[in-house]
Amino acid sequence: MKYVAEPFRIKMVEPMKIISHEERLEALKKAGYNPFALKSEEVYIDLLTDSGTGAMSDNQWAGLMLGDESYAGSKNFYNLEASVKDIIGYPLMIPTHQGRGAEQVLFPCLIEKKGQYVLSNMHFDTTKAHVEISGGRAMNFVTKKAFNTGEYYDWKGNFDLKQMESFIQEKGAENIAFIIVTITCNSSGGQPVSMENIRGVRTIADKYGLRIVIDSARFAENAYFIKKREKGYEDKSIIEIVRETFSYGDAFTMSAKKDAIVNMGGIVGIKEDEELFRAVRSRVVPMEGFVTYGGLSGRDMECVARGLREGVDEDYLEYRIGQVEYLGRKLMDGGIPIQWPTGGHAVFVDAKKILPHIPADQFPAQALANELYIESGVRGVEIGSFLLGRDPETGEQVESPLELLRLTIPRRVYTQAHMDIIAESLIKIKDRAHTLKGLDFTYEPKILRHFTARLKPIE
Ligand SMILES: *Cc1c(COP(=O)(O)O)cnc(C)c1O
Repeated sequence: MKYVAEPFRIKMVEPMKIISHEERLEALKKAGYNPFALKSEEVYIDLLTDSGTGAMSDNQWAGLMLGDESYAGSKNFYNLEASVKDIIGYPLMIPTHQGRGAEQVLFPCLIEKKGQYVLSNMHFDTTKAHVEISGGRAMNFVTKKAFNTGEYYDWKGNFDLKQMESFIQEKGAENIAFIIVTITCNSSGGQPVSMENIRGVRTIADKYGLRIVIDSARFAENAYFIKKREKGYEDKSIIEIVRETFSYGDAFTMSAKKDAIVNMGGIVGIKEDEELFRAVRSRVVPMEGFVTYGGLSGRDMECVARGLREGVDEDYLEYRIGQVEYLGRKLMDGGIPIQWPTGGHAVFVDAKKILPHIPADQFPAQALANELYIESGVRGVEIGSFLLGRDPETGEQVESPLELLRLTIPRRVYTQAHMDIIAESLIKIKDRAHTLKGLDFTYEPKILRHFTARLKPIE
């Protein structure tokens, strides 16, 4: 596997340090064996998330200096509107402070009565939360193939269309609020959705009179996979593929912290429904800010406007997806089981297969995350039973179908040498995997425990 060389050179550097092995042991103990609670200065290579952690370009930093901080009608707003129109093809849009800001202003306008279902390939956590806050019920219809980590499949983000249509027939279309197409499918591993599948969702939506919202944090990475894997798209440009993708939607929400490569920002966009646009505009003002800034400074909108264009650059995407695949292949070659193929933004390590002696309620992927931090100062994140939590009715720990350690790669930040360190550390840990211990709570908060819970190794 050849590493795709960076299509940029480095103009500014941010020094980082690795603290000693003893200091890492101490830091992790102090953090309650939960890497979320580590200080960033205690971390060497930070793979907690790709959200807002990317490196802006010289062009974006230059744009930052051109911020027009007028309360209404800032020129940066119009630049952003033009980028959205050019790339996505929607004329109606409002900035928001981040992706969840877009969710909180749009979803209540689409859910007409309490208890209506919202259907998706897979809801992201804040997306599910905003569906529920708005009175809806979130249902996932991602293909079963997504859960078989070892078996290759091009489209592990696809909807199981048959299953979704049966659900609509069973519940009645009047009880469905709308459909969310998440590209790429974050929760199944940044896995792509094919154009054929998105078109299939549109056909079903038309048949039952439903609207489609595209949850588009990683829309450019999805387009790149379509170009590489789907017949008929190999000669199309990324922008053509992006436009076709959005042509099957009615609205979109976007976290600009991912493919638009900014540290903060979001967008809600609407294709043509002026009435929906008016409804969303009247919600934005009290919740996010006036309609031409939506919680962002003028300078931040300029960075999003420029980042959207950089995010669809094909050389950049080849490097980006190539870097993630390089890490994935290196791990596989070293005998580490991962979700295969790798997705757009992360490598997911199958901790259940590495630590078969640690049961789900002792959080094998969390144990692996901790060991990786101790080994080399690399911070990953558990996506498994620890994240999933307890059954709200019985209080029992729910067993997640997968116990994954997510190694999320920030955009344009780390180099090939960093990827090598990550892979080599995990391969080293594999040989002593049988000595790793499960974890138990010393403090367990009732909600969102993932972020603040404290643990200890079971002796
Ligand atoms: C990150 C993300 C969101 C939420 O966006 P924020 O900017 O973190 O508020 C929503 N959906 C998906 C698929 C995401 O990846």
